[in-house]
Amino acid sequence: MRRRRHAKIIGTLGPSSNSRETIAKLHKAGIDVFRLNFSHGTHEDHARTHGFIREVEKECGRPIGILADLQGPKLRVGLFADGSAELVPGERFVLDMDETPGDANRAPLMHPEIFAALTDGAQLLVNDGKIRLKVIEFDERSAVTEVMVGGTISSHKGVNVPDLYLPISPLTEKDRRDLTYALSLGVDWVAISFVQRPSDMTELRDLVGTSAAIMAKLEKPAAIEHLDDIVQLSDGVMVARGDLGVEMPQEKVPVVQKRIVRSARQEGKPVVVATQMLESMIHSPVPTRAESSDVATAVYDGADTVMLSAETAAGSFPVEAATAMNRIITEVERDPYYRETLRASAPAPGNSAADAISSSLGHVATVLPLAATFTYTESGFSAFRAARERPEAPVIGCTPHMFTARRLALVWGVHAVISETMTSIDQMVDDAINITLREGFGEMGMIIAITAGMPFGRAGTTNLLRVTRLKELPPGGSAELYLGQSG
Ligand code: PEP
Repeated sequence: MRRRRHAKIIGTLGPSSNSRETIAKLHKAGIDVFRLNFSHGTHEDHARTHGFIREVEKECGRPIGILADLQGPKLRVGLFADGSAELVPGERFVLDMDETPGDANRAPLMHPEIFAALTDGAQLLVNDGKIRLKVIEFDERSAVTEVMVGGTISSHKGVNVPDLYLPISPLTEKDRRDLTYALSLGVDWVAISFVQRPSDMTELRDLVGTSAAIMAKLEKPAAIEHLDDIVQLSDGVMVARGDLGVEMPQEKVPVVQKRIVRSARQEGKPVVVATQMLESMIHSPVPTRAESSDVATAVYDGADTVMLSAETAAGSFPVEAATAMNRIITEVERDPYYRETLRASAPAPGNSAADAISSSLGHVATVLPLAATFTYTESGFSAFRAARERPEAPVIGCTPHMFTARRLALVWGVHAVISETMTSIDQMVDDAINITLREGFGEMGMIIAITAGMPFGRAGTTNLLRVTRLKELPPGGSAELYLGQSG
């Protein structure tokens, strides 16, 4: 089974979709990577869902990516005596470290790190930014605020502090337990929420090692200030527009989205555009025109992946949402203007041998009508670099490692195939030709281009570019017949 598009789709699993049957339908409809959201569900729930995904993967014979999304230090108010209270604009409201249930005058906020970081005039946003409080006075255990925008505040609602830099680890105790568990299951990507600074990614990398690829969820203004450094220290990034739209004015989100996509493309790191992409499909079998346009814009900008959240996790039409996303991407990629915009926004090559080879591959793909491009890759790095060139022909990522193949499920244009570690160029060319024919990427007479690193079997050595034409192999014939017959 192969996709007829380059941009990928992540689908979040939840009560609407975590049955084996629905996971199979979602994958068929277009989901390339499934997201396990550790903000919800028990470890047992995630283990069961993980098992179902691996069963579907075995059944369909294609590597499927699994992304574990850690909740991060989500800040919340405590309990309210009556469950909720009404806050009136202009009035005072106190937040403090007292666990006594709250009322219309005060509420518990059991986060000493917030009080430690407060400044005069800082804003506290509650319930997705619907309620706005301005700090008037504070000490290390409480803050008096003025209600700027009122409304109903209720138990355990989320709190955002966009103006503050919090000196806290991005990984709570819960995140550390969830991370250990997710890695024991064998997830392919780990996403970390509320990243504030580059060292947050180093902290995660130290814990994850090489067991999974790591993704920074960009949802704090502080992270955007260090964007390029965070991108460099991550294997991929997510434009987490939900919290981003609370932490900064909504009108800035599209601008920041484009900046993040550009930065990630420059670094050759996959970038995911997430949240409310087809939000209305939680309740409706068809998206709005504006939603279709939003998905299309992310694809035109060159995002690797677009993500479905509540649409697939908790909505009434999860499969329809995946189908709609698949259709929108396919339609954009048919548009000649899509290629033009990708070319116009292509990042300049870096100065490594891998960049020289990958940008040559990009050039070859524009001057020759390639059936496919191939990268022989251990860690996936060469496939990331090839995808960075956004070639029109599919990027076949050949790897001996299932974990690499699964990680590549998230990367623009990459169709991962498991092949053994190559021992010679002849064997590699033979293998590429066989895959082209077997998986229907091309026919005899067509041309393919191959990048790889020599010596074979060592990561990070991309130094070889080969162009070859698919020719009939006579019975018992050798791969030598293919070699050097480019063009
Ligand atoms: C977001 O805030 O956009 C996001 C993807 O994170 P979460 O779904 O965990 O809130």
